[in-house]
Amino acid sequence: MTKITVAKGDGIGPEIMDATLEIILAAGAKIEIEEIEVGEKVYLAGNTAGIASESWDTIRRNKIFLKAPITTPQGGGYKSLNVTTRKFLGLYSNVRPCMSLHPFVSTKHPIMDIVIVRENEEDLYAGIEHQQTDEVVQCLKLISRPGCEKIVRYAFEYAKQQNRKKVTCFTKDNIMKQTDGLFHQVFDEIAKEYPEIENEHWIIDIGAAKMADTPEAFDVIVMPNLYGDVLSDVAAQITGSVGLAGSANIGEECSMFEAIHGSAPRRAGQNLANPSGLLQGAIMMLNHIGQSEVAERVQNAWLKTIEEGTHTYDIFKEGISKTKVGTKEFAKAVIANIGQKPSILKPVLYANNKALNLPKYIRRPAANKQLVGVDVFVHWSGNNPDELAEKIKRIEYNGVKLTMITNRGIKVWPDGFKETFCTDHWRCRFKPTEGNQVNKANIIELLKNALDANIDTIKTENLYEFDGKSGYSLGQGQ
Ligand code: NAD
Repeated sequence: MTKITVAKGDGIGPEIMDATLEIILAAGAKIEIEEIEVGEKVYLAGNTAGIASESWDTIRRNKIFLKAPITTPQGGGYKSLNVTTRKFLGLYSNVRPCMSLHPFVSTKHPIMDIVIVRENEEDLYAGIEHQQTDEVVQCLKLISRPGCEKIVRYAFEYAKQQNRKKVTCFTKDNIMKQTDGLFHQVFDEIAKEYPEIENEHWIIDIGAAKMADTPEAFDVIVMPNLYGDVLSDVAAQITGSVGLAGSANIGEECSMFEAIHGSAPRRAGQNLANPSGLLQGAIMMLNHIGQSEVAERVQNAWLKTIEEGTHTYDIFKEGISKTKVGTKEFAKAVIANIGQKPSILKPVLYANNKALNLPKYIRRPAANKQLVGVDVFVHWSGNNPDELAEKIKRIEYNGVKLTMITNRGIKVWPDGFKETFCTDHWRCRFKPTEGNQVNKANIIELLKNALDANIDTIKTENLYEFDGKSGYSLGQGQ
């Protein structure tokens, strides 16, 4: 018996959760349910997080959380509970299988069976944003070595456990050489530990196009957070319906299982919604808690039901479907098929798909880190970079000289193009000349000089080398 936390959520949530629980219990799931309230009611009662602190205690104690979709109220001030849960509980891995059910659910891609493994905690989703000038705002893209190692290893271990043949990595490291570059580098390092699994890397733009066009070319795809967010919806949609996919959010301690769709408020309370997405989440949960036999029974009964043409309105199609059913009737049909296997769709065989046991991240010895320069960002409303350079040169200190100015990353001084469009946000790069060194005291002096010269500095970024290797990008055109 495993104790799990259940939240029935909002909109269609309670209906699809009831259907899901009824099915898995009928199939023999050994679970004890502890229910908590999250979502709209909690938000509207004045809790901007959408969850009470006692509910966190329950989730953390039980460690396994099955969650129906929730409605985040419109308007500012409400924090997405999904994002908070993933980050608070360290649910670093988002696993989303996307499989087409041809010929029973219409799709342009009859042969499609891919799993998107999305990094779930970092990247642009760190949510660190600032307005810096009148014209420019920024969002910090944070990619960490532990973040990359954990997610990439998860993808390979998952592929190994599920007998999948290939892991593909999508990044944009031709542009983001540091951030996406690290993700790709870690992918290459870890791939070597799994010689039996094929590996490949695609630049995300052409990779995404290929996935949308020829999904049968892929198996497991691992990627950073933002790309994974977008592409996992694309992947689910092109199987035929986003209403059919579930996802697992896996952490070292806790895990959360859900449908990928939202609370569909317009369909609520009408016995219309398709419970399949949440059911798929629940099947992943059963596997995770070591009840693979039950998971297998449920999945095969579900496949059989889809194959029989017993469909909810969202996937019902004249000529393909046979019986249009509501949420409750669909659940009854799946329960009636427990013990059966599909005859045209491939039955599943879950030998032992329990939670993966990954090694803990081990921090590497620190590199030799050397300060080699500084980028000083300046808010300036002029438009002639040569004029700015003259001003900025006056703040140079102790052999630490202005070497370059960029605007939105494009070099505009020295030797800029007059055609380059400039905003009010300028990066001024300082490096020591031959025989000089830069240190933090020098940087403070530079900034003091800027203050005295009435130059509006908005931030600095130190330029480092790690074990002699440059840890910063060049200016575009440099
Ligand atoms: P949605 O996924 O709720 O609905 C999109 C469309 O798909 C609608 O036409 C809906 O009727 C249909 N649909 C979705 N699930 C279905 C199902 N199981 N059966 C039949 N039809 C289904 O997306 P939305 O309308 O953009 O969002 C509605 C609310 O859900 C918002 O408040 C949003 O914040 C929330 N949301 C929550 C989650 C979550 O809790 N994980 C995820 C996404 C959106």
